[in-house]
Amino acid sequence: DHVANQIAAGEVVQRPASVIKELLENSIDAQASNIQVYIKEAGKILIRIVDNGVGMSLTDARLSFERHATSKIKSAEDLFSLQTKGFRGEALASIAAIAHVELKTRREEDEVGTCIRIEGSEIISQDACVASSGTSISVKNLFYNIPARRNFLKSDTVETRHIIDEFQRVSLAHPHIAFSLVHNSSELFQLPDTNYRQRITNILGGKTNEKLVPVNENTEIVKISGFVGKPEYAKRTRGEQFFFVNDRFIKSPYLNHAVTAAFEGLLKDKSYPSYFLYLKVDPKSIDINIHPTKTEIKFDDEHALYAILRSAIKHSLGQFNV
Ligand code: ADP
Ligand code: MG
Repeated sequence: DHVANQIAAGEVVQRPASVIKELLENSIDAQASNIQVYIKEAGKILIRIVDNGVGMSLTDARLSFERHATSKIKSAEDLFSLQTKGFRGEALASIAAIAHVELKTRREEDEVGTCIRIEGSEIISQDACVASSGTSISVKNLFYNIPARRNFLKSDTVETRHIIDEFQRVSLAHPHIAFSLVHNSSELFQLPDTNYRQRITNILGGKTNEKLVPVNENTEIVKISGFVGKPEYAKRTRGEQFFFVNDRFIKSPYLNHAVTAAFEGLLKDKSYPSYFLYLKVDPKSIDINIHPTKTEIKFDDEHALYAILRSAIKHSLGQFNV
């Protein structure tokens, strides 16, 4: 069902950055502590992700490219208590339908690894091979068989910007994982494993550390941690606004409003506070299945969340006399 795969691919993969997001999430689900990303020409020519996660057996490696092959959901019930990022079993099948893919993987307990090459959903080769423990996936010539999509891609500068955005979101959500991002031969990020404050500072650089005000709140409904930027560091753009729910980056105009409300009276016109807010909620109280790319979620109790968030931030800003 190559056609079904190509159609699914349209939903999951809009651009090189979407591939990076899916592959990074897979590496995290595989419990990697080190993830390296290499891209050539903004990911249009090559995207390679190398992780030191649990790897795959020969059978699992082959199955991983089948649609709806996911090792992450055993029953419909699991859908309501998602712990992992992947759950649709669509990403690899979709990517393999629209690119040249090479997978190299080995579990620690296996003596030899597995190497698989797939082009347009077709397995070209599958061999035992030498592989480090973990998984390396190379995605070459994205959309090679869908010229319309390929032509639709933006300039390298724009596509690289999208990749950096995804990379930053994922690495901000997981400071205890080491990440690197290399474009052509220049190293864009080299992030050692660390804590939240240092990861944020490593990524955004400059005076980030001194502008961060910690936010912490613990309630029945939500556990909030993270930082907001002091008002005097507010930006002219929304570039530094991050919500993470259960370690997943999300967009929420509603919660954004709660943050802005907490800054009421403290900001100059047309400026946007920086924030890096990590919310933990009961997975049963959210629905992350409403959007294929999973950046929007639905909360059971939005209004309570709004009020708690706003007052937690107000409290932090007050404590730090800003
Ligand atoms: P999903 O993540 O929704 O399960 P994917 O298509 O992204 O679906 O991946 C299919 C399966 O391939 C995963 O369930 C997992 O078992 C396996 N897999 C993919 N990437 C990796 C990786 N980096 N390390 C180990 N296993 C992986
Ligand atoms: Mg996945």
